[in-house]
Amino acid sequence: MRSRAAAFLGAVMAGLLGLGAKPATVEEPPRTVNVRLAVDGAISDLTEWRFQANAFIEGTVRTFHSRFGIKLVFKGPSRWLPGRGLGTLEDGLKDLSVKVKPEGCDIVLGIIDQNRLSSPSLGIASYVGASIVIANAADPRAMKYAMLHEFSHVFGAIDEKEKGSLMSVEGHTLDFDEFTTETVLLHKNRSFARGSFPLTPEAIEAAIPLYQKRADRRLGETELFQFLTLFYIEKDDLDAAARTCNEAAQDNPNAAEVQVMLGNIRLGRGEPELAVAHYVKALEHHPQDPGLHYSLGLALSETRRYKEAADQFRTSLKIDSDYVPARLAMAGLLLAAGSSEAAAAECRRALEDEPRSAQALYLLGTAMVSLNRPFTPVPGADEADGLDVPNSIKPGSPEAEQAVTEAVKYLEMSIAIDPRNPRAHISLGAAYAAQDKFAEAESAFLQALNLEPDDLDAHFGLGRLYMERGDMGKAAAHLQKILDIEPDSELGSRMLNGAFQVARSYPLYRRKAGK
Ligand SMILES: [Zn+2]
Repeated sequence: MRSRAAAFLGAVMAGLLGLGAKPATVEEPPRTVNVRLAVDGAISDLTEWRFQANAFIEGTVRTFHSRFGIKLVFKGPSRWLPGRGLGTLEDGLKDLSVKVKPEGCDIVLGIIDQNRLSSPSLGIASYVGASIVIANAADPRAMKYAMLHEFSHVFGAIDEKEKGSLMSVEGHTLDFDEFTTETVLLHKNRSFARGSFPLTPEAIEAAIPLYQKRADRRLGETELFQFLTLFYIEKDDLDAAARTCNEAAQDNPNAAEVQVMLGNIRLGRGEPELAVAHYVKALEHHPQDPGLHYSLGLALSETRRYKEAADQFRTSLKIDSDYVPARLAMAGLLLAAGSSEAAAAECRRALEDEPRSAQALYLLGTAMVSLNRPFTPVPGADEADGLDVPNSIKPGSPEAEQAVTEAVKYLEMSIAIDPRNPRAHISLGAAYAAQDKFAEAESAFLQALNLEPDDLDAHFGLGRLYMERGDMGKAAAHLQKILDIEPDSELGSRMLNGAFQVARSYPLYRRKAGK
């Protein structure tokens, strides 16, 4: 599943300039924060640049040390070669995060040539990613303002709708207001480790009332809600996160990203109904996003609304016919409905785009096995409009047997690419079983159980295999295991019925049972 994550929080612009700062006494020992400095290759004379930069770099170092006890240590500069046609500071920040790694430093600061940019904004910062891009302006006072403003963002400050502050979006001074001071001090010991949240659980508990108090003033500062949402997600209070996110949702497209994030978390936790609601909200902002339609489709199929799910996958493919995840999800739904040939056609189309997709090969192999060994369709899927496409190949026909031979080839390719998918081993077991290759089938099912000891289909495959061979002791063990795992399940009883049908038709079983 995609995670479009928390980059939004960093997307904050800086404006112009101002003067004056109040000193404050700090008694704690200073915290050292290393900054990796990377300068745009278009700025030709690096020595000259560094000489001029001294004024605003030293000013920023002094201010952060005296006000917050944060000792910024600049390393470098090294060179950064941004891609062509960046246009915006957001593009610059993405480019920087790909090309310039922290290499042991805490914050990455990129200085970008102003000629690359289409807007006059001076800076941007990512709170979670701990990176900053600042345009190389001629005016050292503008640079000092941009430095203080963006470094404050990395330490949790927000763009404010209140005049007279460094963080104000209207009118710019170098003064730190009380809220900004508190957020920076709260973030003084933040983590810079990539992939981990900046604040500890204790610091999050302290941050929530601080940001909430400011949010209660209703100044229209939407970033407060974004921070609060992130804090709640991090402390795993998804209901509070969703509530806060909804408060921020009005005329704030970034809120859609949070909805996606919440949807993904809900889906991952087996709460598909709640996930549906989040994706629907996100789609209000991005109706043409194929990934969102795909995610919504996944959540809908988890709630067994198969027709609606199929509609979402089809919409996704209408927007982008090369969007492989949606095509494979569609193939999965067709397969669940028993429409094996239609499913195989979707898989072949997906393999044109991604020839080495283990999932496409697995689904294709499975569809072809089921042409000769149809499995019971998933209840509801076979009745959904547009999913019930009749197969032209009949089980037991020479074409169906040929399909199984091909299936073995595709499943082995899938397993070679991704050996850890138990479903591929199960389908391979079924294919070998259909070819009466007992040892190969047994080995494939056992491989699946190695990966997933409680897999019902693997136990059923083995139970049926042993029963066909007349090894009733082993068969019974696996069938009993199915009942142990899911005593009342529809699936379990269906499997047992199937097993007994096979058993009844098998002479060896009758003879043994007659004893
Ligand atoms: Zn800002």
